[in-house]
Amino acid sequence: MTLEQTLPLCIAGTWRLGGGARYATCYPATGEPVAWLNAASLDDVEAAVQGAHQAFLHSGWAQRKPHERAAVLYRIAGLIRERAEELAQLQRQDNGKPINETRALVASAAGTFQFFAAACETLEETITPSRGDFVSMSLYEPMGVVAAITPWNSPIASEAQKVAPALAAGNAVVIKPAEITPLLALQLARICDDAGLPKGLVSVLPGKGSLLGDALTRHPLVKRVSFTGGTGTGKHIAHIAADKMMPVSLELGGKSPTIVLEDADLDHAVAGVLYGIFSSSGEACIAGSRLFVARKLYEPFMARLTAAAAQLRLGDPADERTQMGPLISAAHRESVERYVALGLAAGGRLRLGGQRPSGGLFDQGYFYPPTILEGLGNQQQVCQEEIFGPVLVAMPFDSEAELVEQANDSLYALAAGIWSRDYKRAWALGRKLQAGTVWINTYKQFSISTPFGGWRDSGLGREKGRLGILQYMEQKSLYWGMNEQPLAWAGVEAGQ
Ligand code: NDP
Repeated sequence: MTLEQTLPLCIAGTWRLGGGARYATCYPATGEPVAWLNAASLDDVEAAVQGAHQAFLHSGWAQRKPHERAAVLYRIAGLIRERAEELAQLQRQDNGKPINETRALVASAAGTFQFFAAACETLEETITPSRGDFVSMSLYEPMGVVAAITPWNSPIASEAQKVAPALAAGNAVVIKPAEITPLLALQLARICDDAGLPKGLVSVLPGKGSLLGDALTRHPLVKRVSFTGGTGTGKHIAHIAADKMMPVSLELGGKSPTIVLEDADLDHAVAGVLYGIFSSSGEACIAGSRLFVARKLYEPFMARLTAAAAQLRLGDPADERTQMGPLISAAHRESVERYVALGLAAGGRLRLGGQRPSGGLFDQGYFYPPTILEGLGNQQQVCQEEIFGPVLVAMPFDSEAELVEQANDSLYALAAGIWSRDYKRAWALGRKLQAGTVWINTYKQFSISTPFGGWRDSGLGREKGRLGILQYMEQKSLYWGMNEQPLAWAGVEAGQ
């Protein structure tokens, strides 16, 4: 790929230029262009969905035996691993994450394809206990064309989490990656081609979500949308889905509490809280952005946390020692800055950060340092709204009852963390927290084998897990008559 070229898109089994406006994707560490491409147009949406529908009907993919579909998915996993370094470097340029993090995301994408290949070839359909003269069965069928709409923060991993189970289930997929980070979705489509996936089963439509994502969601041939992104967009998609009676899964925002009880192992808690909020520069739905510390421990804990946060290495994403890269864009950094200003205007104090760094690369890219605010209550806007940046708001708590009330006092309910040596207490507290995922003495650890999703404004449905493949299938019951005699109701006797 050279900068002068305009990247082709993968639409309905062919690689060609998009019909929309030409634009450049930029490396957030320098603001320089990485690649040029033409956005997809509404005609491209139509072509991609029609192509996917035809491929679903006529490529024979859905009819292949599960182990045959799995073989292709294993090949996709293998090719991702073969090209891992190239993909990780491209993702670093695409969204500015440090190279170690993008390597982990690429590895997780390969693992996701492998996992859903296994889920595909081991998925069991059941014979249910018969309550009549019949054999009754519960089966699963693919849905047809699935739309996968993804955000910019973890491209290849987000896409794999949708594309792998959707293909495993026998569907076709149209991917709408974030306009500003389309490169990994395009590479994934190349890999699908190279792995021998029938043409047309995967298309990629970069460009504006308000145009393309909306059209894709409304398209009558799209039978399911799997969306990851902001809560506002998720609700918009849910409204459209309601009109179409279409199932959706929505992985949305978060404002997750991390709780340090007075008996916590401080080394573990400091490391975990730092990782929970500042890794990925806080651009993570599950970022532990509200910190509650037992009052007795508050000062000593905050002193250690602040000292450790000040040592985090912010800088060049290409440098393997870098822990935090730039934010995704200038506009996003300004939004983070506005939230910090709001917190200060509401009476908050800066314990750390809050100022753009300067000099060298810092003057070119969209860097923002680890920032800790305190002196605010859970009701403040900075505690209620998702900042999606490296901003932690720390609050002391007195009683567990007060803690639980505040931790749960959020429209979001995606994740939570608890740090305590007392496992019984942590268990009891974990059961009281309202969240899709609770981590005890760890944070931001993921396993493809464990379902993930949020409550309330954090989403609907679950991704991952062995049964995650069922999100992309319709359930069907089948009855096989075993009667010796015709059904009695009509009064017809055998042989008459
Ligand atoms: P957005 O909701 O703005 O965008 C997500 C995707 O939706 C993008 O591809 C976007 O396209 C597209 N989109 C935008 N408008 C529409 C529309 N009207 N119809 C259909 N699609 C549309 O989110 P962000 O990009 O800002 O991503 C950050 C958000 O994602 C955060 O809130 C974060 O919490 C959430 N997120 C949730 C995760 C989870 O698993 N729960 C994981 C990661 C992030 P485009 O950008 O091209 O306009």
